[in-house]
Amino acid sequence: MSTQPPTEHRCAKCNRLLRNPSPDGLGPKCRRMIRRAGKAPEIVNGYKPHQVEKAVENLRQGGVALLRKSSKNRVYVVVGSDGTNAYRTARAACTCPAGLRAKHVCWHRIAAHIFDLAS
Ligand SMILES: [Zn+2]
Ligand SMILES: [Zn+2]
Repeated sequence: MSTQPPTEHRCAKCNRLLRNPSPDGLGPKCRRMIRRAGKAPEIVNGYKPHQVEKAVENLRQGGVALLRKSSKNRVYVVVGSDGTNAYRTARAACTCPAGLRAKHVCWHRIAAHIFDLAS
């Protein structure tokens, strides 16, 4: 007989079962890895500071989840700043309006990059 709890909380990054729900949807270990990745030189030096801040803030609020894990291209679901739209984001591309115009790197992609680094 299955004794699964009524609500399962899984880490948004590694999909491991969490003992307690967490505000950012991450397990303690993954949270540490992401925090560290957000300070990595290639993030800090590679993007505009306010964009990085936005990405990190969003990660802290659990706005990013891994959608598809393939060896080459990790695809994430990133919830937009307004909390209603969600975009499919990879490090190299994003489905948000700014991302589709591809003029600038949107912060969704930075969040994906941070996630990639933390993996
Ligand atoms: Zn995890
Ligand atoms: Zn975007």
